[in-house]
Amino acid sequence: MRPEKLFPLFSPLETLTGIGPRIAVLLGKLTGPHVIDLLWHLPREIIDRSYMPTIEKCISGKVATIKVQVMGHEPSSDRRRPYKVICKDDTGFLTLVFFKGNKKYLEAQLPIGETRLISGKTERYQNRLQMSHPDFIVPEDQADSLPKIEPIYPLAAGLTAKTVFKATHQALEKTPDFEEWQDEAYLKKQGWPSWKEALLQVHNPSSSVSLLPEHPIRQRLAFDELLANQLALSIMRAKAKRQKGFPFKGDGNLRKSIINALPFQLTKSQETTLNEIYEDMATNSRMLRLVQGDVGSGKTVVALLAMANIVECGKQAALMAPTDILARQHFESLEPLATEAGIKLAVLTGRDKGKPRKALLERLKAGEIDILIGTHALFQDDVIYKDLALAVIDEQHRFGVHQRLGLASKGAAVDMLVMTATPIPRTLMMSAYGDLDVSRLIDKPPGRQPIQTIVVSQDRLSEVINSLGRKIKDGAKIYWVCPLVEESELLDLPAAEDRYRDLSAHFGEERVAIVHGQMKAKDKDAAMLSFVEGDCNILVATTVIEVGVNVPEATIMVIDHAQHFGLAQLHQLRGRIGRGDKASTCILLRSNKLTETAKQRLSVMSETEDGFIIAEKDLELRGAGEVLGTRQSGLPEMKLADIAEHADLMQAAYDDARIVISRDPELTSDRGKKLRNLLYLFERDQAVGNLRSG
Ligand code: ADP
Ligand code: MG
Repeated sequence: MRPEKLFPLFSPLETLTGIGPRIAVLLGKLTGPHVIDLLWHLPREIIDRSYMPTIEKCISGKVATIKVQVMGHEPSSDRRRPYKVICKDDTGFLTLVFFKGNKKYLEAQLPIGETRLISGKTERYQNRLQMSHPDFIVPEDQADSLPKIEPIYPLAAGLTAKTVFKATHQALEKTPDFEEWQDEAYLKKQGWPSWKEALLQVHNPSSSVSLLPEHPIRQRLAFDELLANQLALSIMRAKAKRQKGFPFKGDGNLRKSIINALPFQLTKSQETTLNEIYEDMATNSRMLRLVQGDVGSGKTVVALLAMANIVECGKQAALMAPTDILARQHFESLEPLATEAGIKLAVLTGRDKGKPRKALLERLKAGEIDILIGTHALFQDDVIYKDLALAVIDEQHRFGVHQRLGLASKGAAVDMLVMTATPIPRTLMMSAYGDLDVSRLIDKPPGRQPIQTIVVSQDRLSEVINSLGRKIKDGAKIYWVCPLVEESELLDLPAAEDRYRDLSAHFGEERVAIVHGQMKAKDKDAAMLSFVEGDCNILVATTVIEVGVNVPEATIMVIDHAQHFGLAQLHQLRGRIGRGDKASTCILLRSNKLTETAKQRLSVMSETEDGFIIAEKDLELRGAGEVLGTRQSGLPEMKLADIAEHADLMQAAYDDARIVISRDPELTSDRGKKLRNLLYLFERDQAVGNLRSG
C-alpha cells in the first residue's frame, strides 16, 4: 500500500487551487492526472527577469523588471488602437501598451498614483520606452511573487504559462521530504543534492545551465527514476527466478518433420539462434531472449521451431503479432508446416466473436490447440490456456510493457521470446528488460536479389503509372503505399482512396485493390487474397502493411509522398519486397519541395538496404531523443531521464539495483525500506507488491 505521506501527491489535479475540471483535463493530458505528475513536468527554458534598470538606462529589446509609478490611462476611442497606460520613474517615462485592453481590469491592476513592478519585454518606439502586454504587474509588497528567473514549462492549447507555473509550485508545496534512499557515498561522490532539494531547484532554476541534462540536479532526478525502474525490473526478475522455470527439451520429432517440409535450408544464423533458444529452454530458469534480425531475415520460422520444441514437451505456445493482417498471415504460412508435423494451430484476433470464439477457447482450455497465433486478443481475461509455456512476441517494438506481461501472465513461468527488426541500443533494452539475452540473425536467406531504389519526382506520376502498365502485363505484383496524413488513420483515407480510384480507372477495377486500417476484416482479407492469389496486381495500402506482411511474389513498391515517412518506416515498408528470388524495385515518389533532412532520408534509402546502417543514419538525422522515442518502441516512458543523454546513469542504476536486490531481496534493510518510497513515487507499486513482505 502506498504510504499515506504520498496521498496529497497522488490526488487528482483538481485538488489544487485554481484548477477547475476543464483546466484539469487539459493539464492532465499534458502532464498526467495527478499532482505528482506536475513535479515531473520540467521547465524547458527560463526567462531571466533579474535585469532591473531605470527607465533611462533600460536597453530596449531586453526583458526587464522596472519599478514605476502609474501616471495616467489613455483608453482608446477606436478598437484598432491600443489602450495605453503611462508610467514613470525618476529618470523617464514608460508606456504600457494593451491591444483590446479591458478598461475595468486595467484600472484595477494599475491605479493612478500607485507603484508597481512591471516585467516584460521592452522596446523603444518614437524615442519612448514601451512594453506591450507586460508578463507581470505586481504591487511592491508582492515583489516575491515575481520570479527573478522564471521557469518556462512546455504548454498545450488552452493553458497559460501562469496556470502551469502556479500549479507546479503548489505541487512543490505538497511535496514531503524523505529520508535519503540513495547510497550516501555515491551521492557525495556525484555532488548531488537531496531529492526534495533537487526538485525545488529544478523548478526554481537559477540559470539556464540547470536545464542541461548533465547538471547535477537533473542527473540526480534522472538517476532516481532510472533506479526505480531498474529496481522494479530486478524485483520482478527475482520473483521469476523464485518460481522455478521448467526445463523443456523435446525429442526433436516435430521439429524434424517441420525442417523436412521446409522448401529451404535454414541459414547459419537461424541455426545458431535456434540452438541458443533451445539451450535457454533446457535450463530451469525462465527464458527471456530477443531475436534481432533485419526485415526478411527469416524470424518467423525460428519462432515456429522454438514453439515446436514446447509442443514436443506437451505444452502450449502463443505467437502474438501487432496487427490482424499479420497474425492471419502467420497462421496461413505456418499452418501447412504445422499440419505436416501434426501440430494443432489456431488463430485468434479481435474479429473472432461469438460461438466460434467460444468453441476455440474451449479447445484451448482443453489443450486441443498446441499453438495459438493472434493479436492482443491472446491475453484477454477469458482466454485460458491449459498449459502455456512459451510466448513469442513478433515485432516487439509495437507492444507496450503491459501487453508483454499480459501474455506472459497466462501461464506459470512462461518463457519469453521477443522478435524485432529494429536494432535497439543496449541501454534502451536495459530500460525495458533489465537483463535480456540477444540473438542476431545476421545473414539473409540466400538467393535474395538486391532491391533497386529510385527517387522520382511526383511530377512524373503519369510516367510511373505507364511503366507499371508494362510490368502488369508480365504479371507483376505491386504495392502502392500512401502516407498517413494525420495521426488518425481516418484522415488518411482520402489519400489512399483517391489513389485507388485513379489507379482502378486506369488499369481496371479487377487489377487494383485497397487495404487500410478502417476497413472491415472480411474486406481486408478479400483484398489481400486477390493480391496474393487473384487478378489484382496493385495493392493500394496505408502503413497497415508496414510490418511483417510477406508476399514473396511482390516485386515493386511505390511509396507515394515518400518524404512524409521516417527512415525506419521506409525501411520496414521496403522490406515487403525483395522477399523472393526475383529482382525488386522500390520507387520513392517525392514532392518538389523537400526539407534538407527529407532529402537525406531519401538518399540514404537509395544508397543502402542495410537495416543497421539505416538505423544509425536515422539516429544521426533525428537525434537520439526522437528515434528512441518510447511510444513507438514499446519501451517504458521515462519522465526525467533521457535515455540517450543519461546512458551512463542507466548503467549505474542497473548495477546498483542488482547489488541491492542480491543483498536485500525483500527491501527490508534500512536502505531497502527507504527505497520502497522511491518505488512508490515512480508508481512501481506492482513491484513492491511482488516483494514477499510487500
Ligand atoms: P522476417 O524476419 O522479416 O519476419 P520472414 O520470417 O517473414 O522474415 O521471412 C521472409 C521470407 O524468407 C519468407 O518467405 C520465408 O519463408 C523466407 N525464408 C525464411 N528463412 C529462409 C531460408 N533459410 N532460406 C530461404 N528463405 C527463407
Ligand atoms: Mg516478421
